Amino acid sequence: MGDHNLKRVLQRPPVGVVRTAVLIAAARANEQRHLRRLFDDPLAAGLVEAAGSANDLIGVRTLAGEHFVLRTRYFDDQLLSSAQNSARPQVVIMAAGLDTRAFRLQWPPGTTLFELDLPELLEFKEDALDDLGAQPGCERVVVACDLREDWATALIRAGFDPNRPTAWLLEGLFMFLPPDAGERIMYWVSALSALGSTLALEHVNRAFRELPQMRAVHERFDTLDARWRADVEDPIGWLGGYGWHAAVTHQVDLAARHDRAVPAITDPRKVGDARIWLASAIRTA
Ligand code: SAM
Repeated sequence: MGDHNLKRVLQRPPVGVVRTAVLIAAARANEQRHLRRLFDDPLAAGLVEAAGSANDLIGVRTLAGEHFVLRTRYFDDQLLSSAQNSARPQVVIMAAGLDTRAFRLQWPPGTTLFELDLPELLEFKEDALDDLGAQPGCERVVVACDLREDWATALIRAGFDPNRPTAWLLEGLFMFLPPDAGERIMYWVSALSALGSTLALEHVNRAFRELPQMRAVHERFDTLDARWRADVEDPIGWLGGYGWHAAVTHQVDLAARHDRAVPAITDPRKVGDARIWLASAIRTA
């Protein structure tokens, strides 16, 4: 058996909660086939293939795929705008999953980008990216850690500089964590953020978690040990308590901005007050 084949056998496809990362990558791979796509992610399809497809999660993707696409573009724009306004951009992507922003976005020179996720996800991802011959467009540092534990020490050991303003991204994470773990993350993100740092995040409210349309998703996620555990009713107030000045963008406005249909799962005419929050914030205190 050649080295390459041996590596493929040793490379373990993601299972459990890390498998949710394959679901999001599959939505981005799908967008890559769109004539007027909202972003370019040429690596997504290869990552999904290396993971052995995401067909087992097709129901979730049908429900939320358009939301994943819009949110990807929203966070791309937030991160690039923060990086462009910084002399030495430092970006931290929490629970990065199969995010390929380090490779596919045009980062200003001198950008350092950290990706944090569970060790099993990053082992798989690094092998798969290597096989795909991917080259980052910035200094990319991966930090294997459990975000319910002391990730801040691991990040600092990996070269993160708390005196440098940071652009943080927390996409598709908070709902999977116990509420106290989410609060600890916000505490440390805030403690490590110099003035002028920015933060972009996704969360959901209780009404969204309890939508009848979401029942099948929760059942599917339960089988992956990826149960949703948290929600927030007032993201602006929540972030304000940690010293961030935040704003929320509604998917209705985002869809109009990009000339797309409002994803049904975020359309107030179909889901009422249920919300997937897309928030961005700047550190003011
Ligand atoms: N942010 C990525 C994206 O949008 O493509 C991935 C989102 S995916 C829904 C959730 C990610 O959270 C997975 O990559 C999973 O491994 C990661 N994750 C879940 N629990 C975690 C934990 N305790 N520590 C670190 N990462 C975790």
